[in-house]
Amino acid sequence: MKNDFICPYCSGHLNIKDKVVFVAKKINGETGIIFLHPKLGDYSSEMHETFNVSKGEDVDILCPICHQNLKQKVEDKNFVHLLLVEEDGKRYNVLFSSIFGEYSTFKIGKEVFETFGKPVQLGINFETLSFLK
Ligand SMILES: [Zn+2]
Repeated sequence: MKNDFICPYCSGHLNIKDKVVFVAKKINGETGIIFLHPKLGDYSSEMHETFNVSKGEDVDILCPICHQNLKQKVEDKNFVHLLLVEEDGKRYNVLFSSIFGEYSTFKIGKEVFETFGKPVQLGINFETLSFLK
């Protein structure tokens, strides 16, 4: 299935072929390009060998087109927020943990709520999150 990942700020397409492309920025200011897999729940990633992100590091994930930080706080957790358009045209919000190696993903749409990986427990109603349109 072909998934299109879209920046919620500039509506730019973030996927090219079988990769989703981001700019990752570490707390120490170091930046690099990161490729993620478009299949939700597949946490494989690729980076240049000079750019290393360690497990447990909280990284800023920026749109490579408009450079907006895609991070959103939900309760006390940091997530990366994207829009997903599936092959059938249905649109969803996707949230995944910005902590490298923390495999926690939520797919949220009208009457759809799916989790992937090892989703962290959140005691909130996602419908109340103003950034999920
Ligand atoms: Zn953007």
